[in-house]
Amino acid sequence: MYTKGFDIQDIATFGQWIAEGQNMLLVSHMNADGDACGSLLGMTLMMDRAAREGCRITPVLPNGCPKNFVWLPSADRIVNGEKEREEWRKRLEEADLAVCVDLNTPSRTDMLAEELRAAQCRKVLIDHHHNPDRKEFDLIFSAPEISSTCELVLWLTKAMWEERFMNRDVATCLYTGLNTDTGGFAFSCEQPSCFEAAAELVKYDIHPAEIHNRIVNTFSVDRMRFYGFALNERLRIYPAQRVALMAFSLRDQERFGVNGEDMEGLVNYTLMMKEMEVGALLREERGRTKVSLRAKYGVDVNLMAQKLGGGGHTKAAGATCTMSFEKTLEEVERLLGIADVEPLHWETER
Ligand code: 5GP
Ligand code: MN
Repeated sequence: MYTKGFDIQDIATFGQWIAEGQNMLLVSHMNADGDACGSLLGMTLMMDRAAREGCRITPVLPNGCPKNFVWLPSADRIVNGEKEREEWRKRLEEADLAVCVDLNTPSRTDMLAEELRAAQCRKVLIDHHHNPDRKEFDLIFSAPEISSTCELVLWLTKAMWEERFMNRDVATCLYTGLNTDTGGFAFSCEQPSCFEAAAELVKYDIHPAEIHNRIVNTFSVDRMRFYGFALNERLRIYPAQRVALMAFSLRDQERFGVNGEDMEGLVNYTLMMKEMEVGALLREERGRTKVSLRAKYGVDVNLMAQKLGGGGHTKAAGATCTMSFEKTLEEVERLLGIADVEPLHWETER
């Protein structure tokens, strides 16, 4: 069990704020992943049970719940901040407490950030990213050494409430983030506490294989065909630099009818090749470009992402750039040391 980063007084204060709360909000980041959805809903379900009767608890995601995760318990309660703008504003205005999970700064909520920053309610952060934005929160539970926010939620609530509000639904939510943020227990799981958390959660009769299938084996035919195109026509390999990169213009995406959600996980293919050590994926959006960076061993891609105005973890980081797609690509190539280097031409070299 992880306890190192917790202050007993902070835990007592947080527990009291939940117990007195009348209207409480939970918020996670734009383009939510399994850890964002899992920690958001796991915490929502426990707060439901811990809070006073008649109070209102609302989970919010800036652009809603991705289709991979709509099966999670209570996912239908998630307010989509972008589509349900008025609902979000009303709930935020009424809120006495906002709990932010799996983000280190309000700007990760994108179009909700300004309103979240300006809100007068108490704000609590539960997160495992580096450099939490301390001035924006009244209480912070931050543990960058921990696998996932879901794991952190498990240990924090155990310290606060023992296992009083845990049940199978909560365990299903928390296991989801543990699974996705470690790539199915393949990385970011160096600490024993990660596996201890998994052991705690399976006690609640969850089905790890079923959860894994619901998260991973969900491709549409279009998405599968797009992956073929991506690997055949957009994957650039730089053997000397041990770098692999994929970049997708809006045109590429329109051609196959895919979006950002469909590309979740595609960046990991860059590191599947034995010799590759750093991988990048760029995806053009309207007015900006999303950059995803991944590393196997020595390279710290978090530092690289920071140079692009983003952040993340040492082995998985990202940024959102407002320069043009072409300019962003140039900048990423420069940071990766592949500017002016010819990629491998596989058709001719076989
Ligand atoms: P992904 O490449 O899967 O989008 O993101 C990997 C990690 O990088 C995320 O868990 C998050 O910590 C970080 N990240 C991704 N996009 C951004 C961004 O636009 N800004 C910041 N600060 N971090 C990001
Ligand atoms: Mn996470």
